[in-house]
Amino acid sequence: PARLDPADLLAVGDLLTDEERLIRDTVRRFTEERIRPNLPDWYERGVFPARELAPEIGALGVLGMHLDGYGCAGSTAVEYGVACMELEAADSGLRSFVSVQGSLAMRSIHAFGSEEQKQQWLPDLAAGRAIGCFGLTEPDFGSDPANMRTRARRKGDDWVLTGSKMWITNGSVSDVAVVWAQTEDGVRGFLVPAGTKGFTAHDVHGKLSLRASVTSELVLDEVVLPADAVLPGVRGLRGPLSSLNEARYGILWGTVGAARDSYTSALEYAKSRIQFERPIASFQLTQQKLVEMMLEVEKAYLVAVRIGRLKDEGRSLPAHISFGKLNNVRTALEIARSARTILGANGITTAYPPLRHANNLESVLTYEGTSEIHTLVLGEAITGEAAYR
Ligand code: FAD
Repeated sequence: PARLDPADLLAVGDLLTDEERLIRDTVRRFTEERIRPNLPDWYERGVFPARELAPEIGALGVLGMHLDGYGCAGSTAVEYGVACMELEAADSGLRSFVSVQGSLAMRSIHAFGSEEQKQQWLPDLAAGRAIGCFGLTEPDFGSDPANMRTRARRKGDDWVLTGSKMWITNGSVSDVAVVWAQTEDGVRGFLVPAGTKGFTAHDVHGKLSLRASVTSELVLDEVVLPADAVLPGVRGLRGPLSSLNEARYGILWGTVGAARDSYTSALEYAKSRIQFERPIASFQLTQQKLVEMMLEVEKAYLVAVRIGRLKDEGRSLPAHISFGKLNNVRTALEIARSARTILGANGITTAYPPLRHANNLESVLTYEGTSEIHTLVLGEAITGEAAYR
């Protein structure tokens, strides 16, 4: 008879190919050995040792893994998805590092860069010898980036950039920033190397969420860049928005990992914690919580596999990605909060993951399109009416 796995009761993992399962298990082993034991300390101190970890994450093969050539693995969408699931089962900060480097910075260079730009940056970024970030959001423009204030103007052959970008993951640890700026020809992307005169990064402090992740403000004060710093392949918001669509795809998988990790830690705890002379797992109220979590983890996993397969068939649309992002982030957040209650007082410390996941997921709910914005994307998809303004 088939054995039931409480962590995957519907055996959704059986829908994966051998290669996909191999990647999943390899990434899981890396996070269990190298990341998870350090998380309580990193989270408490509010640090992510990006420089030290980047070459190891590069060697794991996950940086830009879904891109072709230039030292990238050329993986399928589902292979990339299962990697994100395992990275975020450890911590959303780790998955964010990989998403920003691979799907935002590298993907923008890969899709819109010149051959020279690709040769210069992609192999180093894939190997983790270099770190990249992606600056779209500004202090005054988040959901509505079309009104961004950062400007790039021509000065002879050069470009001069002025403005600031806010909430930029990997900002202060990056070797290259992909910065989106308004020009006479609409929004364009620029590669700004660290150390360029007038370009500085300042970390955001006081975060209660995504603490094991670097989040920075980028300031561009009359930064002079050569003519070939611009990404030649795209004009308009289509550029950054198409890269965001790729990164969001990683989120809809990643959050399944955070949800699963919250659920399984609550399940384990419930079986060993004794109150009223019985394991708390024996109480009906606890079982109801665990069963709700299990149902929702499995449904989110199915959504991820479905959207991944559509993507590999070349049939995924932005509305599909919005479906996954909205549903899976929201679901994961509810699961993490419910899991926390089962852990009682122990649940409020860094010793157990659910509250760390829940706090992280508050950022994930907001970045890469808030849940409200994805609701509006889906609202427009099903009614034909845009309701953004
Ligand atoms: P706002 O746009 O001001 O929204 C505030 C509230 O108003 C939200 O609830 C929103 O849903 C709602 N709202 C806005 N417009 C509408 C509307 N039309 N209808 C209904 N409700 C609406 N950005 C980058 O460019 N690069 C990064 O690497 C990056 N990393 C990040 C890391 C972290 C930890 C965080 C928290 C953010 C990061 N961001 C990054 C920024 C992120 O993408 C923005 O925070 C997000 O787009 C929301 O923008 P905002 O915070 O300005 O909120």
